[in-house]
Amino acid sequence: MVISPEVLAYKKELIDLRREFHMYPEVGFELYRTSQKVQEYLEDLGLEIKRIAKTGVVGLLKGSRPGKTIMLRADMDALNLQELNDVPYRSRVDGFMHGCGHDGHTAMLLVAAKILKSHQDKLCGNVKFVFQPSEEKFPPGGAIPMIQEGVLEDPHVDYAFGIHLWNSLECGQIGLRPGAMMAAADEFRITLKGKGGHGALPHQCKDPIVGAAQLILALQTVVSRKIDPLQNAVLSIGKVQSGSAFNIIPEYATIEGTTRSLDETVRQTIKQEIQRITHGVAIANDLDFEIEHKQGTAVLQNDESLSEIVIEVAKEVVGEGNVILVPPTMGGEDMSFFLQKVPGVFYLVGSANTERAINKPHHSPYFDIDEQSLLVGVQMHVELVLRFLRKQDDSFSKNS
Ligand SMILES: [Zn+2]
Ligand SMILES: [Zn+2]
Repeated sequence: MVISPEVLAYKKELIDLRREFHMYPEVGFELYRTSQKVQEYLEDLGLEIKRIAKTGVVGLLKGSRPGKTIMLRADMDALNLQELNDVPYRSRVDGFMHGCGHDGHTAMLLVAAKILKSHQDKLCGNVKFVFQPSEEKFPPGGAIPMIQEGVLEDPHVDYAFGIHLWNSLECGQIGLRPGAMMAAADEFRITLKGKGGHGALPHQCKDPIVGAAQLILALQTVVSRKIDPLQNAVLSIGKVQSGSAFNIIPEYATIEGTTRSLDETVRQTIKQEIQRITHGVAIANDLDFEIEHKQGTAVLQNDESLSEIVIEVAKEVVGEGNVILVPPTMGGEDMSFFLQKVPGVFYLVGSANTERAINKPHHSPYFDIDEQSLLVGVQMHVELVLRFLRKQDDSFSKNS
């Protein structure tokens, strides 16, 4: 790992910041304490600050000459989760925990801003530091309101980059995938309406439970029979509700589920097939139906040529053998909405340390990170910006 002295110099500050955010987690758009701290830090650096999307913070660093604008994004929100780690920096707020690493994302981007500010005179172009609320609580998430409130304009963002600390990779590894890397994650709720009555007299009723049972199985043919086997798709039903007693045929049955895909056409096919199959099963069972579809995150698409540049920089930072081409994941990320509007890359910085048993999955009450990974993240943020904005005639060396 090649961490430059200027990044190493901030190691303590970086870890202190991360632990401070970790001890006082906040969720959704209610990031009052966190965003205040972020704002104060950026103000102390002398950046131009904007508050958007309730508790979102945007800091703008203008280089000494005009050029491209690079956006770096960190999400700041925690989870409704009780931390079970016994560490000095354990969450001080009952029922809330930074169990996904966003405390680290926030700390890394603040320190990257401080270092890049010290290079201001060497920059041709601007850096927009975007601190986003509500990544975990989707919909609506924080990215969409930030876009609606103009985060990508004034000045217009040319490229956007974001990091997720990642416990499926060891500290010292960096993972990414050019093209589709994370899923479109949608939600559906189907209500079947029948006619309730006595369980002994089914012929006088319209039974939504039998209809729901058929529908649950029939929906499993969407992925197995209607999607190209070489494409990726998931349809999972996570909630079924109906009935009140053993001898009553109820009026209603509801089914809720999630669908995931890595391609917009596949996504549309799944949606249409849910509609078609539900319609058919409802007719066959003499039921009425209603379908609610909640569109979730978009497919996260990493720009192919910018991915090449991130891979090059990552190889310099962690060494060629530690840059991993990761498989796509069926998880969703609302960074995808920024990447729908401007080209960019979202990549993974390994944060596990299996030897020290720091390798619990994200959203586990035992989640923690190897804090050395924070240095890798800062180095990547800084190096990427310098790669794009460093003056051509400048003798700046990365170890200066
Ligand atoms: Zn998460
Ligand atoms: Zn996350």
